[in-house]
Amino acid sequence: MGKFEFDIARVRSDFPILDRKVNRCPLVYLDNAATTHVPDQVLAVIANHYHTHNANVHRGAHTLSLEATGYFEKARERVAEFVGANRKSEVVFTRGTTDSINLVAQSWGAANRKSGVAVTAMEHHSNFIPWQQLCRARRKKLGVVPLDSSGDLDLDALEVMLRKDDIGLVAVTQVSNVLGTVNPLRDIVELAHRFGALVLIDAAQAVRHEAIQAHELECDFLCFSGHKMMGPTGIGVLYGKASLLEKIPPFAFGGEMADRVDAIRSTFQPAPLKFEAGTPNYVGAIGLAASIDYLKGVGLSAIRLREQELLRYAEKRIRSISEVRVLGSPKRRAGCLSFAVEGRNPFDVAAMLDAQGIAVRSGSMCAQPLVKNLDVAQVVRISPAFYNTFEELDACIAALEETVAMLPPALQG
Ligand code: PLP
Repeated sequence: MGKFEFDIARVRSDFPILDRKVNRCPLVYLDNAATTHVPDQVLAVIANHYHTHNANVHRGAHTLSLEATGYFEKARERVAEFVGANRKSEVVFTRGTTDSINLVAQSWGAANRKSGVAVTAMEHHSNFIPWQQLCRARRKKLGVVPLDSSGDLDLDALEVMLRKDDIGLVAVTQVSNVLGTVNPLRDIVELAHRFGALVLIDAAQAVRHEAIQAHELECDFLCFSGHKMMGPTGIGVLYGKASLLEKIPPFAFGGEMADRVDAIRSTFQPAPLKFEAGTPNYVGAIGLAASIDYLKGVGLSAIRLREQELLRYAEKRIRSISEVRVLGSPKRRAGCLSFAVEGRNPFDVAAMLDAQGIAVRSGSMCAQPLVKNLDVAQVVRISPAFYNTFEELDACIAALEETVAMLPPALQG
């Protein structure tokens, strides 16, 4: 088999959930932008940890605790290598992307009371509200970079903002969770740095299929979640440049993040531990490292190519259905696409597809500013992963055609 070819039957056999039936039909899971499934190999690593090595980390001199700490820190090394960090201390374990972004908003925000923030009009609420709230509390400017009619960012508008306003940080998604737009991160980082602003990248939707090399990209912070890359839930990552993580203060306090504590004051561990108050999700971190090993085993380039082909195929077929409007036509699309079905309620569409075992997302995708801009109330989204097949996409499209025929717009309230 060639380097980028896929043994799809073998890959699918790693995910027993893909074999189940929903509403007496074979499951067709096309909601991978919301969460991905976990292969047996990752589940086995998690089970083995609980069976064999479980103890709290960084807290004991006994053998189990030392073993668990060793696996936890090894997981940090694997994540650091995966994201292209310079060193493992640039990797903070969090609960997920949302947690990572809130951490930076609070910690960087505490150290930078004077600057505003620029976000984009395509951000998930996770990369929008924390900055909005920070700016509101500080009475600082929150700039929102608009999109053009294709769904690409207007970088000229960002430049004007950086030139005119006191923007200390630009928070931008790598891939839109609605349009699938892949943003030109190198240009954005270069532009922001030219004006002295930091850049935080929300890589939640990119992490599985876009090569991430944080150090080389020179971004300042980068965030993602394990559950969108075949890992467990409740574990995420904040990558931060070492110099910045040293500078910004911790915002959550508790066990193991402190160095010296007395009644008057406390001092804290160096990063990353100063950001990991309380018992960390060490089993989640070990599971995340296993999911990285799994993805590498399948082949990161093969995954990227297959997901691109699946999405391109889906887009071409969906565009051919009359009354269905695919939203946006960005220069590059990855991971997902959203559409509106003329006159039909997206929840009805999703329910009709579910009746045939097909799982798609419907609603505002936690991106209300973007969806409002698209001039639709709600959307339907499909997001194939490498374990999906072209036959599954055919089944989804056939069901969609049937749905359009059966749900006349006149019946909609
Ligand atoms: N950012 C983007 C672009 C997302 O798509 C999501 C989740 O869908 C998040 C952030 C939030 O991720 P989590 O819920 O894992 O924190």
